[in-house]
Amino acid sequence: MTDDRPTPPTFEALPEDWETALFVVAHPDDIEYGGAAAVARWTGQGKRVVYCMVTSGEAGIDGLHPDESGPLREGEEIASARAVGVDEVEFLRLPDGILEYGVDLRRTIAAVVRTHRPDIVMTGNFRDTFGGTNLNQADHIAVGRAVLDAVRDAGNRWIFPEQLTDGLEPWGGVRAVWAAGSPQAGHAVDVTDTFQDGVASLKEHKAYIDGLGWEGWDPEEFLDGILRGGGQGLGVTHAATFEVFPLGWGD
Ligand SMILES: [Zn+2]
Repeated sequence: MTDDRPTPPTFEALPEDWETALFVVAHPDDIEYGGAAAVARWTGQGKRVVYCMVTSGEAGIDGLHPDESGPLREGEEIASARAVGVDEVEFLRLPDGILEYGVDLRRTIAAVVRTHRPDIVMTGNFRDTFGGTNLNQADHIAVGRAVLDAVRDAGNRWIFPEQLTDGLEPWGGVRAVWAAGSPQAGHAVDVTDTFQDGVASLKEHKAYIDGLGWEGWDPEEFLDGILRGGGQGLGVTHAATFEVFPLGWGD
């Protein structure tokens, strides 16, 4: 008898021999659809994880003016970060919804990389879709592309040299960029033990979730759906998936 069900992808476990990670995303809540459960695991191991929000997500709630929405969403992200052991959250306050990939965005992110000197830089999925025909959002794509470039810019003292004052040095120590939830993910991390921390972090986005107006939407059920798929490919209950972009040549 043949089994013609599609075989789930098989993921490779992410390395955990690092100390500091910088997670750069476009909006408050971008980390909380899977990434945060992984962050909880890593902060639990004593690693340092810093969040950087490129915008404050101020254009994300239809019924709320950006002047009110921005500060509210920053507060929700700070609470959300705290739920997974992160107490450093930086807001760059670029305009939500209309980010542009380019030198300006690379410059801004390179400065953050030079400040925090991470081993790993994470971002969200920046492929055109989330898999199938579910289109990605323009800010996510712009930020992810700029992150890939900015980690290399950060290591070159002749790129954005005006930043190298007051003790700020080039930083070429980033080993890889990891994009959470990419449809082309080949790696994953077991988050079975920190799944509930991930749920708690997502639930902190109360105003945003209410603003979406999805009747009966359950954050736990939703996150379970995302992380179970990853778990299947890693042989565990829940896993967060990442696409790995190694820096340097080969290996
Ligand atoms: Zn987003």
